[in-house]
Amino acid sequence: MIQYYAQLTGWLFEHAIQPIFYALGIMEYSEDAYEWLDFFLLGLFGILVAWLVCRPLEAWRPVEPVTDRRAVRTDMLYTALTRLGILPMLAFVVLVSWQATWEGFLTDNNLLPPTLEELFPSLRTSPVLAFAVYVVVLDFFEYWRHRFQHSFRWWWALHAVHHAQRQMTFWTDDRNHILDDVIAAVWFGAIALLIGVPPGQFPLIVLLLRLAESLSHANVRLDFGRVGERLLVSPRFHRLHHGVLSVGNAGKNYAVLLPVWDWVFGTADFRRDAYPKTGAPEEPEALATGGWWRQQVVAARRMVGLA
Ligand SMILES: [Zn+2]
Ligand SMILES: [Zn+2]
Repeated sequence: MIQYYAQLTGWLFEHAIQPIFYALGIMEYSEDAYEWLDFFLLGLFGILVAWLVCRPLEAWRPVEPVTDRRAVRTDMLYTALTRLGILPMLAFVVLVSWQATWEGFLTDNNLLPPTLEELFPSLRTSPVLAFAVYVVVLDFFEYWRHRFQHSFRWWWALHAVHHAQRQMTFWTDDRNHILDDVIAAVWFGAIALLIGVPPGQFPLIVLLLRLAESLSHANVRLDFGRVGERLLVSPRFHRLHHGVLSVGNAGKNYAVLLPVWDWVFGTADFRRDAYPKTGAPEEPEALATGGWWRQQVVAARRMVGLA
């Protein structure tokens, strides 16, 4: 498996990346691109898995007909840009370049808290349990990041891009402001480092959470039953979060993977109209129907109070 993967990346490097870098006259950076390629392929693999899982579901029992194809295409562009360009780039910068500096700083100043494995040595011997614990802890912090996105005015101005979509499909997952992506990546990466997620498990956790998020945005009439709804975020659960009544500070159902956080912190809504209309009617129309660039500019202006 690893051998095939190495062959594939080697081939891509030789036949795609090097020629492009050569043509652009920036061959001295091509070694860096080799490492970046891993993140790019992880992104591509993530999109493929999400598509294979979500597309049949959307065809099977859609919540609503797709009447605005243009809006969906905008979300596809978001997905391609985010997963193949921005996120791999960020992961590369954050993980490869900053990690050493940041860890060095923390160690020098004695600020590095014990990792979970140091606190609970039994995690070292059972990687599956360790994986589950890391997922739960990271998911907890994702819940809080999402709540903050709704509670600070400047942050909501960015997050409104995500909520403005009225034609929600599994592609909507990546519809976020670029700055919001940067904050999310730093937040997630920093927490993963602090709790000591092993580098080998990190991509798997990212894949799992991204898949859960894609599925939760899918245009499918699907819930996991009375008990299941409380264990795992379903398309119904998250669609309610995107309902027009749920925008801004009045939000419900913030969880990414585990609804238990909404339960514990009093933001769960298992009862409201199950499949509400989505969108953020009080936000500028450009955030809903503008193209990618227009949405970025309008949200940024609103963030700094210019609009
Ligand atoms: Zn939200
Ligand atoms: Zn969402």
